[in-house]
Amino acid sequence: MRRNGVVVRVPAKVNLQLSVGPLQADGFHEVTTVFQALALYDDVTVKYAEPGSGITLTLSGSTTKGVPTDSTNLAYRAAQLMIDTHDLDSDIAIHIKKEIPVAGGMAGGSADAAAVIVAIDALFDLGLSRDTMEKLGSQLGSDVPFSITGGISIGRGRGDEITPVLARGSYFWVLAMSSQGLSTQAVYEECDRLRTGLDIARPVVNDAMLQALRAGDAVALGKSLTNDLQAAACSLRPALRLVLDVGHDYGALGSIVSGSGPTVAFLVEDEEKALDLTVALSASGVVAGIARAIGPTHGARVVETL
Ligand code: ATP
Repeated sequence: MRRNGVVVRVPAKVNLQLSVGPLQADGFHEVTTVFQALALYDDVTVKYAEPGSGITLTLSGSTTKGVPTDSTNLAYRAAQLMIDTHDLDSDIAIHIKKEIPVAGGMAGGSADAAAVIVAIDALFDLGLSRDTMEKLGSQLGSDVPFSITGGISIGRGRGDEITPVLARGSYFWVLAMSSQGLSTQAVYEECDRLRTGLDIARPVVNDAMLQALRAGDAVALGKSLTNDLQAAACSLRPALRLVLDVGHDYGALGSIVSGSGPTVAFLVEDEEKALDLTVALSASGVVAGIARAIGPTHGARVVETL
């Protein structure tokens, strides 16, 4: 019997390390990053639809503000890419239940694109390898391949060349959201401006971080968190410094802007500390929303067949 649809669950990400090389002639930066997938998910349903209806997209969930439902949505573009590449029937309905913050540096749009690739592969029985899906995904955005893979991985190139990291343990995160997103492009431009005249080295992976991950040592991991975009995100949004201070005063193992921000991620010892920090952040009045999430978790995967 033919399936009617599939539901794919896809995680948010945090960058444990984000090292940004110099601006290149093509306008991009070479990056070296270490991603961790967090148990904060969007659920993406892809179904066959009425003949002639084309691609349709609907949204629900707590983070839909500012998310387009037209062909500019990254999930829509992923569907179009899969349909064109594999010559598929183009009548499909996509529904995204969004919980990942939008424009928050947590790869929300990339996650949805990754989910649609995995969903269409399953729905149409394409049998694509993970590698093939990652390559297709990298045409849509640098974070899409990692959203397919999940776990903990190093991203090189534009962040889209993924190598899984051997890691142990679970890590507890508190995520402080802002009421307004930050544009990734604007943050990179600010980073270039702040670095004017400086000699910037090519980015490399931090060995201390890999060692901490291999040992499952959250204290050492907290000390090795770095983000070259943090200064730029704070420059554009000075209030982020106040948020980072709350974590520092509280004694978080590490406090870092996630990716291009403005979400701030705090690494803490355990669930109890996560709850305490949540209370401290709420009382501080400097954040618009708070979530707790454990990482690492799986990448985009089918959780239900309809
Ligand atoms: P990254 O961490 O990959 O840099 P981000 O998490 O900062 O990305 P997104 O949540 O992907 O940013 O949103 C960036 C912009 O992309 C949004 O402002 C929105 O207009 C647009 N967008 C397109 N498709 C989506 C989608 N499926 N979910 C969220 N935003 C989307």
